[in-house]
Amino acid sequence: MRKYIIAGNWKMNMTASETKKLTEELNSAKKCGQQTVIICPPFTSLATANDLLVGSAIRLGAQNCHFAPKGAFTGEISIPMLQECGCEYVIIGHSERRQFFGENNAFINQKLMALLEGGLSPILCIGETLDERQNGKTKAVLETQLAECLKDVTEAKSIIIAYEPVWAIGTGVSASTEQITETHYFIHSWLEKSFLNVAVPILYGGSVNDNNAGEILSIPHVDGALIGGASLVAEKFASIISTAEKLTDR
Ligand code: PEP
Repeated sequence: MRKYIIAGNWKMNMTASETKKLTEELNSAKKCGQQTVIICPPFTSLATANDLLVGSAIRLGAQNCHFAPKGAFTGEISIPMLQECGCEYVIIGHSERRQFFGENNAFINQKLMALLEGGLSPILCIGETLDERQNGKTKAVLETQLAECLKDVTEAKSIIIAYEPVWAIGTGVSASTEQITETHYFIHSWLEKSFLNVAVPILYGGSVNDNNAGEILSIPHVDGALIGGASLVAEKFASIISTAEKLTDR
């Protein structure tokens, strides 16, 4: 039976009071059913969300972390800090962090190893730019990102991959069914070769919404979705969860 991971990346949206409202709406909007539902609010809202998620099936994640447990890293947030806020998942390698904050695969690998060590699930984002896709470099880019971000990983059990073509994020234009089918198959095969017998879930991200979720979640090797914009509206996020639940029941 197919079960999905539906994760919301709130990005730099939602103050603590706005988080309270949205989390309460999500708590009453929809049962998660068989799906793993994760929300990733900004750091300043994690404690608020955690308090409101007591007794809820919705899980909590963060949008970034530092790899060191503590120390002189002004402005950074450590994994133990996130754990104490109730986080079980952390998004790493998001294209916005690569693009605007200069994060590279080696740095992301350090975070990934620290998360595995700390017992949290990394949601590792990979994806090509439009220029790379148009120049036929998609597979090579993804292969490099996978190899370098997963370097030295021997136990892939809690890792989640999010394939997010950069050109589809926040643009309202998701990748086509053909593009997602081909790319997820490629990532799945790479992971299968590298981590024999461990099923690593692969989420699709990039303009997923309540209208296209059914089609995208039906694609082979799509194990869920990482959702930005549509995760900020309770009805839309709840509708995507319902869609996943219907596909699971089929
Ligand atoms: C994201 O930022 O991870 C994302 C997929 O955003 P959006 O759904 O808004 O394209």
